[in-house]
Amino acid sequence: MGLEKYASKRDFSKTSEPKAGRSKSKTKLMFVIQKHDASRLHYDFRLEMEGVLKSWAVPKGPSTDPKTKRLAMMVEDHPFDYRNFEGIIPEGEYGGGTVIVWDEGTYEPIETIKGKAAQEKHLLKQLKDGSLKIKLHGEKLNGEFALVKTHGMGENGWLLIKHKDDFASVKDITKEEKSVLSGKTIAAMAKTSEKVWEDGKAKKIKPRKKKSGKK
Ligand code: MN
Repeated sequence: MGLEKYASKRDFSKTSEPKAGRSKSKTKLMFVIQKHDASRLHYDFRLEMEGVLKSWAVPKGPSTDPKTKRLAMMVEDHPFDYRNFEGIIPEGEYGGGTVIVWDEGTYEPIETIKGKAAQEKHLLKQLKDGSLKIKLHGEKLNGEFALVKTHGMGENGWLLIKHKDDFASVKDITKEEKSVLSGKTIAAMAKTSEKVWEDGKAKKIKPRKKKSGKK
């Protein structure tokens, strides 16, 4: 897919969202889930593949209950550096609203395949076939998940499904609502982000100085 669609939807003089980026890991693939309070609250599920982040918008967020299938709409590829993005996308811009990194970590195919390149090749084939089987190693999500393309839900409709394993649970994981990077909730990020953009200019708020050393 490439990043043309991503870039065409955004005005980088007005949004501080990343433009590019490249993985530094030669051994591991990464995933990230962002919670995004835009016109509608949703979670963005992203998997590193071929140097970009393959992306799905999951309106209700992931479930760790194998009985609860979650709709996941495939959207445009995002640049690798998006994995760290949290802050505010200005009102009126594409996806305007607040973003936090809800979960992140590494992932791999459920089949044992050695080497990042071989894993990516395998996953790209599964992506093309509309049935991805992956194992997540995140802070909130762990174990096996499937992303399965569905018929009758438009061209981009997929389902995100937890497999039965030791990490399956009926507990609502979205209740764990803080960013794994900053510890902020969406509401806190909306109030304290240093990346507020207004009228095409970054309005930087000075980060609060960390207390050094002993308390
Ligand atoms: Mn989004």
